[in-house]
This record gives sequence, structure tokens and C-alpha cells, in this order.
Amino acid sequence: MSKEFRISAGKDLRNTLTMNQEKIYDVIITGGSYAGLSAAMALGRSLRQVLIIDAGKPCNRQTPHSHNFLTQDGSSPAEIARIAREQVLNYDTVQLQQGYATRAEKKDGLFRVRTEAGDTFAARKLILATGVNDVLPDIPGFAACWGISVLHCPYCHGYEVRQESLAILGNGDAGYEYSRLLSNWSTRLSLLTNGPATLTAEQRNALHKHGVQIIEHPVTALEHEEGYLKHIVFSNGSKAPFSALFARPVSKQHNNLAEQLGCALNEQGLITADALQRSTVPGLCGYCGRYNGRGSLQQGTDRRHLLKEHKKGPDIIPGPSPSFNNKL
Ligand SMILES: Cc1cc2nc3c(=O)[nH]c(=O)nc-3n(C[C@H](O)[C@H](O)[C@H](O)COP(=O)(O)OP(=O)(O)OC[C@H]3O[C@@H](n4cnc5c(N)ncnc54)[C@H](O)[C@@H]3O)c2cc1C
Repeated sequence: MSKEFRISAGKDLRNTLTMNQEKIYDVIITGGSYAGLSAAMALGRSLRQVLIIDAGKPCNRQTPHSHNFLTQDGSSPAEIARIAREQVLNYDTVQLQQGYATRAEKKDGLFRVRTEAGDTFAARKLILATGVNDVLPDIPGFAACWGISVLHCPYCHGYEVRQESLAILGNGDAGYEYSRLLSNWSTRLSLLTNGPATLTAEQRNALHKHGVQIIEHPVTALEHEEGYLKHIVFSNGSKAPFSALFARPVSKQHNNLAEQLGCALNEQGLITADALQRSTVPGLCGYCGRYNGRGSLQQGTDRRHLLKEHKKGPDIIPGPSPSFNNKL
């Protein structure tokens, strides 16, 4: 391991080089969407040398308009990200590298991240802000409608389809609770259980009482025009018109960078984090800004589950925790 020393030159006061001139960043952030950029802004404003590595594929990229986001209600996700990138990259010490991080290791107190293109970058700390991947069911038309008329969050997209004929994909307790939530937006609801319903008799009665139709035939296809749902087709050959389908696919990590670093994961494969977002690997932090209307943050750490159970937590984490920044 080569010896480190600090150089002070012009704006580059905190630039740290090794003897072989490899640049050592204070922080590498993998993922340069809303969470990664938000972390980068806080760190840039703390004069930290930051490298963001981003593959450019945020989870909401198919959504035409974002909502429920103050000052940006109705803007496209791409436009929000463009403005965010512009503002963050105004900070001299923040750099953005386009690419996909494939390998990460920690050795002798330094994190090294390798990209698909074969470049390797080093830093004292690492933030994983790579978001989550929604695993969409293999139903023809589902992926094409995702984020356009197949929706997961009524707070983000429910207003636009208020009082229209809406379908909900779900079963059992989850399907029942989702139907209850959606009844705030429309009285024309159908719960699609996609097979035999696992609802209790009380749940069935309550749904019936509120006019929620229960359809148990498996869903075989979504008929749509450029992502806008027209009909849902069922296994018995019938089809019904709907304006939107609400569904909550399972989310998974985009990559196994956390596993490569030996980070503890929970049973859902999300990074286990404490209240300060610290993972079990010192210097590694998971970070994400996805609030999905389920009373939880949707992110690469299990903080969303913490928040779900203890709703006193913040909805959006404003930046890396002080302990992360202070100890750099
Ligand atoms: C369909 C849909 C619609 C939504 N609509 C709204 C809305 O209207 N209003 C609202 O407030 N919220 C909305 N959300 C939630 C919002 O999109 C998320 O809160 C937000 O995108 C989460 O930000 P993030 O940075 O954590 O993850 P993402 O935005 O998903 O970004 C992750 C980034 O990491 C990159 N990445 C992944 N792996 C790697 C890797 N190995 N190396 C380098 N880069 C990598 C990805 O390419 C991507 O750029 C919506 C979400 C979805 C799925």
C-alpha cells in the first residue's frame, strides 16, 4: 500500500494523491439519480472530493410526469434530474462519471470501485445510491404501461385518474389494504386477485359493501396504446376496460455491490442500516430518496422498513448523516 499525502493547490485543497498519483476521492457515490445527487450536493457543499458513478437508468424513467414533489409538480423525471445534475456539478469538487459499477472492494481502508468499462476509482468512503429494481410480473403489456398507466403510488399518480375505473392487482391483506387506500381516489374499483382470493370473509364483505368488485380470474394481458391502458384481459377470455392498474411489484437491489463488500443484508436483500444510515461495513452507507406512498422509503437499505414500523422518521433523508461526513 503506497503512502498517502495531502497536497494543497488552488481550489484542490483536499485533493489526496497516493505516491503513484492515483486520485483518492473522499467519497464515491454509485448511482447519480435523486438520492445520489442529493448526497453529492451535501458533500460538495462540505468541500468533499466526490465522484458520482451513474448508469443513467432511474426507476421512474418511463413516467411522463412526476407529482407530489413541491416546486416540480408535473415536471418530467428527466427534467428534474437534469436540473439536479446541473446544480450539483456546479460544485467544483464533485465529478460525474457515466458508467455501471460492477465491482467494489475495501482494502487497507480504501474502497475501490470498478466500472463495466474497466476503470477503477478509489475513495475513503462509499455511498450506494443505486436505487432498487422493480421486478415486474411477466404479463404482456405490464412493462410497457409501467409508470404510465400501471402505477404503484396513488400519491404520485392517483389524482390524474381520480374517479375513473381503476383496477388493483393484489390479494389477501395487502390487496385489501391497497383497495382501502385507493378508495380515497375512486369509487369505481376492482380488486384483481389473479387467482383464487385469499381474503377473509370480513374483508370480502367490507369490499362488497364499498362496491369494490373482486375478480379472481388470472390476468393474462394488458391491452394498451403507447402505455395507456385500455383493457385488462383475463384467463377466461373476458376483458374489462380500465384507466389504470395499481400494482406493487417486488423491489430488488440493482446489483450485488453491497454483498461484494460483505455488508449485512436483511431478508429482502436490502442493506441493513442503523438510524444513522450506517451499514455493517465502516465507511459504507446506503442512501435513497424513494418515498413510495406506503409510508416508507423505497431504497437500497432497509430504512424503509424501519420507517414503516416507526413512522416518526423523516420521509426524505436530507443528506449523508453528520457522522458520515465528520469522520472523513
Ligand atoms: C414508475 C415510478 C413512478 C414514480 N413517480 C413518482 C412521482 O410522481 N413522484 C415522486 O415523488 N416519486 C415518484 N417515484 C419514486 C421516485 O422515482 C424515486 O423516489 C426515486 O427515483 C428514487 O431515487 P434513487 O436515486 O434512490 O433511485 P433511482 O432514481 O432509481 O436511481 C438509481 C440510479 O442508480 C443507477 N445505478 C444502478 N445501479 C448502478 C450501478 N451498479 N452503477 C452505477 N449506477 C447504477 C441507475 O442507473 C439510476 O440512475 C416513482 C417511482 C416509480 C418506479
